[in-house]
Amino acid sequence: MKLYNLKDNSEQVSFAQAVKQGLGKQQGLFFPQDLPEFSATEIDELLKLDFVTRSSRILTAFIGDEIPEAELASRVKEAFAFPAPVTQVEQDVATLELYHGPTLAFKDFGGRFMAQALGQVAGDQPVTILTATSGDTGAAVAHAFYRLNNVQVVILYPEGKISPLQEKLFCTLGENIHTVAIKDDFDACQALVKQSFDDEELKKALHLNSANSINISRLLAQICYYFEAVAQIPAEKREQLVISVPSGNFGDLTAGLLAKSMGLPVKRFIAATNVNDTVPRYLEEGQWKPHQTVATLSNAMDVSQPNNWPRIEELFRRKGWSLQQLGHGVVTDDVTKDTVRELDKKGYVSEPHAAVAYRVLRDQLQDGEYGLFLGTAHPAKFKESVEEILNKPLPLPQALAERAELPLLSHFLPSDFAKLRAFLMERAPK
Ligand SMILES: *Cc1c(COP(=O)(O)O)cnc(C)c1O
Repeated sequence: MKLYNLKDNSEQVSFAQAVKQGLGKQQGLFFPQDLPEFSATEIDELLKLDFVTRSSRILTAFIGDEIPEAELASRVKEAFAFPAPVTQVEQDVATLELYHGPTLAFKDFGGRFMAQALGQVAGDQPVTILTATSGDTGAAVAHAFYRLNNVQVVILYPEGKISPLQEKLFCTLGENIHTVAIKDDFDACQALVKQSFDDEELKKALHLNSANSINISRLLAQICYYFEAVAQIPAEKREQLVISVPSGNFGDLTAGLLAKSMGLPVKRFIAATNVNDTVPRYLEEGQWKPHQTVATLSNAMDVSQPNNWPRIEELFRRKGWSLQQLGHGVVTDDVTKDTVRELDKKGYVSEPHAAVAYRVLRDQLQDGEYGLFLGTAHPAKFKESVEEILNKPLPLPQALAERAELPLLSHFLPSDFAKLRAFLMERAPK
C-alpha cells in the first residue's frame, strides 16, 4: 500500500511507515494512493460473509501484500472481537450500535485495529506507547494494547481530574499497561509526553511511539463496520439508504465515505454536529471559519477544527464528487435532550451523540428512504447526563460494573520530567 502526505504529495510512505509515523511532514495527513473499488457482484458476495472474514477482505484491498492475508485475518479477529448490531428504532430508521467493545464506544474498533497494526509492523522490536489522557482516549488505548506482545503502554493522566469510573476503566488492567497519575492538570501531562518525545536518548531506549487519533489504520478499520451495517439491512432497502454520522473530528464520516467510494450502496451521508458547526457552516457558506469551541452535552464532538476534514475534501476531489451532495445539520443541547427523551418514548435508550445524528436524520429523511444513524457510545458512558435527561437510573453494563470493583494499579508522580524519565528508563526493554 502506498500513501501520500496531503500537505506535501512528494512524501510517499508504505502502510507500515504511515502506521508508525501517524502524521507526515508539516503535520500532514496520509491518504491512500489507490482507492480500491468492488463491483456490484463483489459487494453482494462480500455482504454474505461474516464480519471478520469480510473485514479482512476489505482491509486487504487497501493494504495489499504488505501484510499476508492470513496474518491480517487473525489480527482483525483479535481487534473486532465484539459485534456491531443494527437495531430497528422505527419503521424506516435503525441504528448501528458501535458501543459493544471494552470501552463502550466506537473508538474501540479503530483503536484495537491500530494496536494490532502497530504490533504487526513493529515485528519483533519492542515498542513503548506513551500518551496522555483527560479520560476517554486513555481507556481506549489501554484496552486496545492490553496483553499485546512486545508493546508496553504508559498512560499519564491528571490525578483526581478524571471521573472515578473512567479511572477504573483503564487503571485496573496491569500487565503491559502502566498508568501514571500526575499531580497536575491535563496540559501538564501533555507537556510531559512532548518532552519525552523530544528526548532522543529516551526515545531510542524505549522505541517510543504515539497512538495518534489520525492514524490511517483507524480509518481503514472503521470502513468495515459500514459494510457490516449494510449486510444487516433488508436487501430491498439498500438503494435507499441514508446514513447520519455524529461528527467531531470527522474520522467516522471519512470512513463511511471511503466505504461508499469502494462501491458500498449508500444513497447519501449526513454530517450531524452539535453547535460546534464549522463544517455545516462551510457547506452552507463556502467559507472555513472555525469559532471558539463550545462545551456541549455531546462532548466527544466538541471540535471546531476537525482534523480529518482534509481527507474528506481529497476524497471528493479524487472521486469527482460534489460537496453539495453531503447532507448536514446542527443540533443544540436543548434539542438533543428532547431527542433523547423522544427516543426513550419509542423504547430506545440513547445518549447525546447518537441523538444528534438521529435528530438530523429524522428531520431530513424523505419518503421511501431508509435511515441509519450511528450509535457511537453506550448510554452508560454518559450516565450522568442521560440519567438527568430521562430522570431515571441507568444500570452499568456488567463488565463495567465488575471492573469498577477492582483495585487501582496506578503509579503516582509529581509533574517533574526527571522523575518521569527515570520511571520510563526503568521500564526500557533490555
Ligand atoms: C469520537 C466520538 C464522536 C465523533 O467521531 P469523529 O470521528 O471524531 O467525528 C462521536 N461520538 C462519540 C461517542 C465519540 O467518542
